Amino acid sequence: AETLLEVRNLHVQFDTYDGVAEVINGVDFTLNRGETAALVGETGCGKSVTVKSIMGLLPAAEITAGEIIYKGQDLLELSDAERHARRGREISMIMQDPMTSLNPVLTVGEQMIDVLKWQGERRLSVTDWLRDKVSRRSDADHRERAIEMLADVEISAPERVFSSYPVELSGGMRQRVLIAIALLSEPNFLIADEPGTALDVTTEAKVLDLLDELVEDRNTSVLYITHDLGVAREVSEFINVMYAGEIIEQAPTAELFADPEHPYTRGLLESIPTLSSGIGGGIEGHLPDYTDPPAACRFAERCPHAESKCSEVVPYPRKTADDHTVACHLFDGEAAHDRHQKLAQE
Ligand code: SF4
Ligand code: MG
Repeated sequence: AETLLEVRNLHVQFDTYDGVAEVINGVDFTLNRGETAALVGETGCGKSVTVKSIMGLLPAAEITAGEIIYKGQDLLELSDAERHARRGREISMIMQDPMTSLNPVLTVGEQMIDVLKWQGERRLSVTDWLRDKVSRRSDADHRERAIEMLADVEISAPERVFSSYPVELSGGMRQRVLIAIALLSEPNFLIADEPGTALDVTTEAKVLDLLDELVEDRNTSVLYITHDLGVAREVSEFINVMYAGEIIEQAPTAELFADPEHPYTRGLLESIPTLSSGIGGGIEGHLPDYTDPPAACRFAERCPHAESKCSEVVPYPRKTADDHTVACHLFDGEAAHDRHQKLAQE
């Protein structure tokens, strides 16, 4: 498979009143063309900061090390203008809260036409523009295209929604509108930050199904950001599990569910609600203080398997199977048989 995005050794630090917070501590992951992958972890684990780094939404000073290579080009080396041009045309994002991501004083149609105009202008070179060789699209063309897109996201009265203000729409409708806006520019890469979490479970499932179909049809690569491993299982082919600013386990989705290794991943799996019990188990404790993180394994304070080594030696990621990587001392130089026995003994 061809690599689309490669995040290498990303480090992000924030200055806080309590000192420097190391919120991203060496994150590595890859996304292939046409692939849907997920970045999973609890609120505050650094998922959104990782996304903001990719989107160029953090002050440059906060990214202290690393590379974000998109189609062979390190995005961190681009100027703001170059990066801005790439964002939107190549990379699009669906935000987690439809109400705050839509402009309340503009109609849906006005917001969509803005996107189409901005995109059209960037596609014309100055000379073409002056010679007027390229037929500039009229507002009527834009309107038609926008309404088509609203129909594509299965909005049944696209003309009416086109003329509506966000506040006049239901939450599910607003989420569909956001998807339509994100896909208007025909991006190659889409970041979906907790899409549907603001909705009820049934509507969320419908929105995720729809998004899945749309990106499949367009061969768009997608990075889903979610705190919910159950959602990640539904929507992604590959899962990166994140804890306290580090990726602690990576595997193809089926493999991760068949053979979860890291104690944190196993805890997350137990907290997925099941039909029989209604609620899941969950993991005790909290994320560590980023201004004073544990010296070695950042999960040590919450881990039922922690040994003295865990607070002394950093557990670097190691391969336990093809495409399966885990950062935990339980997997240090052990045969697969032993580690499965160890986990089975819980
Ligand atoms: Fe637990 Fe140690 Fe593995 Fe960290 S390295 S997850 S503390 S067993
Ligand atoms: Mg978030």
